Amino acid sequence: MRLTPVELEIAEIHAWMERLLRRAEQLGESGEIPVSAVVLDSEGRCIGHGSNRREWASDPLGHAELVALRQASLILGDWRLNQCTLIVTLEPCPMCAGALVQARVGRVIYGAHDPKRGGLGSTIDLSKHPSAHHHMQVMGGVMELEASALLGRWFRQRRQRFAGNEAARSQKD
Ligand code: ZN
Repeated sequence: MRLTPVELEIAEIHAWMERLLRRAEQLGESGEIPVSAVVLDSEGRCIGHGSNRREWASDPLGHAELVALRQASLILGDWRLNQCTLIVTLEPCPMCAGALVQARVGRVIYGAHDPKRGGLGSTIDLSKHPSAHHHMQVMGGVMELEASALLGRWFRQRRQRFAGNEAARSQKD
């Protein structure tokens, strides 16, 4: 029997996205770029969750998608994730998009497009690249407004904090 990704109603996809956006928002308070991901198995059960942890773990590979993929592979005892669906709040970067293709993930659903670094359509589409010998279904722009607003707020706050620190430093000088 060939396992395929679970069929998901749009309401279920939105419910996952809302949950991930809430997690990402909490994460943003710790200084990480707020991105969260989940991997669902062929029956829609969560078998992997990941949030960005580059800062916390000093890990250049600490992107939400890779953390979630590793957890899912460990649980399944298989690196091939054809029957899995990965949902993430931001379009995967080229590193993660390449990893998703390599892991043969069946379906990827993402929130905000990333015009500067997106690897599934915005700057390059690695799911359609000649090196991708695996067909991955991709659905982008789910709850795009909410997902990009969260990132926009986070980057604004970070700039303000940075500007505040600079001002405090120049007062000391
Ligand atoms: Zn990434």
